[in-house]
This record gives sequence, C-alpha cells and structure tokens, in this order.
Amino acid sequence: MIGIVVVSHSAALAQAALELAGQMVHGDAPRVALAAGTEDGGLGTDATRVAAAIDEVAQAAPDGVLVLVDLGSAVISAELALELRMSDAPVRLTSAPLVEGLVAALVTAAGGASLDAVAAEAEGSLAPKLAHLGDEPAGSSAAVAGGQPATSPADASPTATAVVTLINPAGLHARPAATLAAELAGFDATVRLRNRRTGAEVANAASMSALLTLGARQGDEVEASAEGTDAAAALAHLEQLAADGFGELDGEEDGPVPAARVSAGETAAPAEAAQPSSAGRPGIPISPGTAVGPVVRMPDAAVEPPDEATLTESERAAAAASLAPAFAAVHQSLTQRADRLTDERFRDARAVLEATAVLAADPALPEQAAELVTRLGATPERAAWLVLGALAELLTTQGGAMAERAADVRDLRGRIVAQLTGAIAPGLPDRSDPFVLVVDELAPADAALLGTTPCVALVTASGAPTSHTAILARSLGLPAVVWAGARELRDGDTVLVDGTRGEVEVAPSAERVAEASAHVDVAPFDGTGRTSDGHHIELLANVSGGAEAADAARAEGVGLFRTELVFLDRHEEPSVAEQTAAYRQVFAAFPGRHVVVRTLDAGSDKPLAFLPAAREQNPALGVRGYRTARARPDVLERQLSAIAAAAQAEGADAWVMAPMIATAAEARDFAAACRAHGLRQAGVMIETPAAALCADEILAEVDFVSIGTNDLAQYAMAADRQSGPLAELTDAWQPAVLRLIRLVGVAGAAAGKPVGVCGEAASDPALAPVLVGLGATSLSMAPRALDAVAAALGAVSREQCVAAAAAAAGASGPREARAAGAAVLSSTA
Ligand code: PEP
Ligand code: MG
Repeated sequence: MIGIVVVSHSAALAQAALELAGQMVHGDAPRVALAAGTEDGGLGTDATRVAAAIDEVAQAAPDGVLVLVDLGSAVISAELALELRMSDAPVRLTSAPLVEGLVAALVTAAGGASLDAVAAEAEGSLAPKLAHLGDEPAGSSAAVAGGQPATSPADASPTATAVVTLINPAGLHARPAATLAAELAGFDATVRLRNRRTGAEVANAASMSALLTLGARQGDEVEASAEGTDAAAALAHLEQLAADGFGELDGEEDGPVPAARVSAGETAAPAEAAQPSSAGRPGIPISPGTAVGPVVRMPDAAVEPPDEATLTESERAAAAASLAPAFAAVHQSLTQRADRLTDERFRDARAVLEATAVLAADPALPEQAAELVTRLGATPERAAWLVLGALAELLTTQGGAMAERAADVRDLRGRIVAQLTGAIAPGLPDRSDPFVLVVDELAPADAALLGTTPCVALVTASGAPTSHTAILARSLGLPAVVWAGARELRDGDTVLVDGTRGEVEVAPSAERVAEASAHVDVAPFDGTGRTSDGHHIELLANVSGGAEAADAARAEGVGLFRTELVFLDRHEEPSVAEQTAAYRQVFAAFPGRHVVVRTLDAGSDKPLAFLPAAREQNPALGVRGYRTARARPDVLERQLSAIAAAAQAEGADAWVMAPMIATAAEARDFAAACRAHGLRQAGVMIETPAAALCADEILAEVDFVSIGTNDLAQYAMAADRQSGPLAELTDAWQPAVLRLIRLVGVAGAAAGKPVGVCGEAASDPALAPVLVGLGATSLSMAPRALDAVAAALGAVSREQCVAAAAAAAGASGPREARAAGAAVLSSTA
C-alpha cells in the first residue's frame, strides 16, 4: 500500500481534512503523516518537517508516497523536502486539491492501488464538482476575481500604473498575499503585477496563489498596472496596502513610549533629572545589590528565513559562494570566544562552544547548502537553515548522544543565518566590557552561560523572585530586577539597577551612582553561623554542580544540591557512572562536612527530557519531583546507587532528600529506598501545605526535613511562583507561609530532628532571624548571601528571633510582617 503526506500551512486544516477523508475509508487505511503548521503552532510550512514526514511514511510504505500540498510556499517546501529526505521510496508531488484529493487518494490507496493510479485519482478529484457547477477546468476560462468576471483587456480602458516597494520582512508570503487578493477582488479592475527584480509577472492580482509566484521579497519593487472602471482606485488601494505592510506589521513599528524613556539629560530641571525613570512603575527585586552599566539587549532568536523568495539564475553563483565564508566567520568567532574561557569554572561552557565551532568548520555543510542555492534558487540563508535543520532532525531521531548535539546544530543554524543576513548573532552577547543584560525572559541554556560573560546586572521583562532565573542571578551575585519597562530600554542606555529595592534608573546622575555604590561593608562569614548569644545555626550553600560547590566551600556544608540542574540539557538518562562522577565533585568540595543531595526534581518549570511526564493541564500540580518515581522507580533507584557510590568514594557525610512530598507514606517509601542503598540520612522537602500540616507524621518516618519556601509559598498561596504580577502573594513573608513554617519547626523540635530552610527565603538577611525563631536549625542559600545572613544572625539573640517570629507570623500581611519583625529585631534584647 502506498502512503500519503499532507503538507499544509495549518495543522488544524490538515487534521480536519484527514478526519473528513478518514470517514470515507473502509478497511485498512494507508499510512498518512501531516507536515502542517509551524513548530510553535503558527501558520507555515517547513521543508525539514515535510522531509521527516516523507521518511516516516516511506518506512511503512516502501511502494511509494503521494504528497498533497495546500498552496504557495507549501509547494516550495515540498519540493525542497524531496532534496532533503533520506528514504529512497518513490515520491510523487501532486497538484491535486487538498480536500478532494486527499479523500480520493485515501480511498484509492486503501484499495491497494499503485502510486500512479492513486495520483491520477487524486488529480481528477475536482471533476465531479466542476461538472456539477457547470465550470470548466482551470485555465480554460477567464480569471474570476471575487465572483465577478474580470474585465477583459479588450473592453477595458487602461487607466493607471504604479510602483510599490514591499516592506514586509518576509516579503509577499501567504498572509499578505491573501490580504491583497481579497482586497483587490472588491474592485472592478484587473491588476497586473511585475516583480522588477525577478521579472516574474502575475496577470491578475486577485489570485492569491498567483501572487505567491511573484517571489517578492522585502525591498523588491513591484510594478502594477490596472485596467477597468475602478483601475485608479484599485491601484491607490494597493499603494496604501503596501505602505501598511498589508496589515501584517500592526504594532511592530510602534517605537518606545517616549515618556518612559525620560532620562536625566532630557529633563529640564536638574532637581527632577535625578528622578528615576522607573518612578511610578517600580519593578520586582529578584537579586540584591546595585550595578551601573550600559544596556545590552539580548538579541532576538534567529527566525526562519522566508521560503517564498527564490533567486534568478544569474544571482545564484554569487549567493552560493557566500556560504563558505559565512561558516568560516562563525567558526572563527566561536573559537575566539571559547579561547577566552580559560577559567576552569567555565570548562563545560568552553566545551559547548568548541563543539559548535568544530561543526561550523565541516566543509560538507556549506557545500550542501550551496547545492540548494544553485539548483533550486534558495537564498543562502534559507539553504543553510534547511541543511542544518535537516541535520538537527536527523540527530534527534537517532537519539542518545547524537540527539544531545541537535541543540548545538540549531545554535549554529541561528548564527549562520545571522552572519548571512547581517543580523546580530543570537544567544548571549559576545562582549568583553561590563554590561547590563536586558532580556524578556532568559532561556535555561543562556542562563547557564551567563557567568562566562562580564554581565554586571540583569533586567528582565517577566519573572518572579522564586523563578530559576532569579535563583541563578543570586548565585552569580548579579543584581536583578523584573521591570515592566524593560522592553523600552535601548542598547547603550546607561542604567542603574538596584536589585535590593527593585528599581531601574535610566541615565542616573553621578550622585545617584555614587550613592548606590556606597554599600555598607559586611564582615565576611567566618565559617560558623550563630546568634549573638552563641546559638549555632548551620549556614549552608545551595549548589547546582561541582564548579559551584568549589566556590561555596566556605559554607558549613551543602543544604541543597539541585541534581536536576546538572542534567537539564540531557535527552538520555545519564549512566550511574556519569552521575557518580558528577556527585563526587560536590562531595569532594566539602570533605567531612554534610552535603544534602536532592533527588531529581523533574517536571513543572524544570522539565527533564529523559524523564518525560504525560502532557498535563497543570504541570505544577502534576507529576513532578518525587512523583516521577511512581512511573519510573528505576530512575530513582539508579540515582540513589550513584549517590551512595559517590559518597562512599569521597567518604562524604551524605544526606539525601526527596522533593515535592505530600504524604507521610511517600516519606516512608523514600526513606526505605535510601536505606536499601545504605544511605543513612534520609529526609524530605516540605514544599506543600499538606506536608507542613503532617510534619509530625512525616518526621516520624525520616531523619530530617528541609523547607522549600519557594514552592511552599506557591502552593500555600495558590499563586504561580513564576508569575511577576502575583509576586506579592508568593512572598515568603506572607503570614500564612510563616505559620506553615512554624508548624514544621514545632514538629522538628518535638521530634528532636533537624529542620532546614533551603528556599530563597533563607537568603534574606531580614527574614533569616525570623526563620530561626520559627524553628529552623539550618539555613541554606546562594553562597553570596552567606556574609549578610551570618551578620544579621550574629546581631540578634535567639530570644529576639523567637519574638520577631511571633510578631511576623501574627501580622496581617507581608509588609506588616516585615515591619513587625524589624521592630523586634532592632530593639535591644
Ligand atoms: C523550593 O521550592 O523552595 C526549593 C528549594 O526547590 P526549587 O526552588 O528547586 O523548586
Ligand atoms: Mg521546590
């Protein structure tokens, strides 16, 4: 049986057409694959996905594959896919109409017909409809526009000509073409178009599919001539539409709101000039400290070059020749960047850059792309996009270590396209001078490389204090603010970022810079946390791997090793040996001291590709953390083996805990699993209100607990920890959260077992004494917070901590809790 591939701009359209056609099939249906819409759910087609669909169907249907397409660029994508596919089954690209053709093809193929017969049936599928409506087959009658017969040249008077320049970034692709065709259909005129660059002509611009053959790109000049009574009006409308980008650019051209960019230099009165431009729109502080520097905006991610544009024969040789130098330039820039990362801490980042540089030096890649330019007239950037996209797809389908490289290939693809089009290379800016990074939202992969750049502060348009970007910023000691005005900042603006107060000032005055830089000196942490009356509170570090652990060695130990962060980019579960090596690095940094290793907290905002959860409506309330062990107990088993082996090899005092526990039964099962591996200190995190309320029962099962205030606040307040607008609710100073912490503290004291706090609350020097007063026996934090937290604790007695905790937990809101706690702590004991 032959197979079928449907190529459409719209996934919904393809799915619906298939559903309809499926109704007509009796018995076994042929293999069908859809290559429809873009990856992000938008409208468009992609040759690499079409090629993958052809290969998939060809495997099940080696006798042949029929490819049905909708319109315009779908045809071009399908043609390119024939070049990119790996399988060698016969493939036929048919001009049959999508819906009727699919019905006919499906029915005929189900009957076991050959590829030729199925194609012929599909191509003739319009015949019944044509006959019924009395229409003649396409091409034999005058063009019809908007249901009106077009005016023929003989009876119309030519009245107007015009030239328009296309401003749409992707040229005259499907959407603007559809707009133009629909708008012109309302005029009593026939509009002819000619692309001055390519010479392509269209006899009637009211036909959308004809418009797509113009191959018109941004900047192309298109000549228009019109005949008919409305000729002048039609051309005037065309000019208007072209000037407006055919409605496609709505909103994009809007510049920054001028008022939001008021800077010191632009205001008249010097007294007012020092006012921060953020006044009236304060941001959310997500990582403390202040820094001043020039803004560098994160470059936009590379966008797929349009597939409508094709080169003339004469343009192809030069375009093809531009590919090898572009690959060479990217290779050189990646190598230089890798060479600058000499510090051992950046070993992994350097390895990633070097691997991508090696890929850029592979001569086969520009050669394959050049072939597409020469033979098919693809633009060089489109050709590079296709070749590298096909390679990434291939690596992904091969799985294992090969799939790990797909991300590098996609990264290279973006860089090559930027190089060829003159755009700024995607990813973190490659700068040697200090800068303030301004970004909508930081992707995990970029976040991991942030420490390798001279970035001095971070301003994000969205995020919240407990988001993982915020946690990373704190661990790097970067002042950071979530600020609604971030999108209005422009490259080169000087900004002062106050991550303690949550403010961003554009063009701060010299006095403001001096004032903000004058920080109060805090004595360095001496290695033992204690209150002024000598009560020991262990001060521990939160780490995400060996390099960070080495930097955090002055802490008393590790209170939270987030193991999932070591393996975020992995598609395959790391072997026990590999895990053991990674855990040993952390243990080795803390000889003889205790290290709390958390088992994988996969799911929700930290998805792990090798531990996939089913698609969930609400992942934060779904299978995350310890819950993943229900379906994959083997993954937990292997991780516990690796932790035990690493601890044994390093002679470490290993404590192990599970995230996202809600019941005492889960705590009991986890403790049993740890003990079976010889891990004697088994604990759990208290991150759900259920766990806090059942702390007595849970502590009866385990040796210690650690409170994750980030999630505890999220679940107690029913507010997403990633949400900026809800940040006030997820504030750990919320009395409801403090009261839940107190329940755990009281239960810990009764059981005589340690109660740690390892959420971001433990990094807040004002909150630390309150947490101690609520019953915390250890605080674990970003290493950079150690000095300030140690100093805050050393300034107050245990009795003050208890009184401050009572005052804060009894307050009516977070603001009141802060004030009440501060009032008690500032009074002499
Ligand atoms: C927490 O929820 O407070 C915690 C420490 O875990 P994570 O931030 O990694 O979810
Ligand atoms: Mg958590």
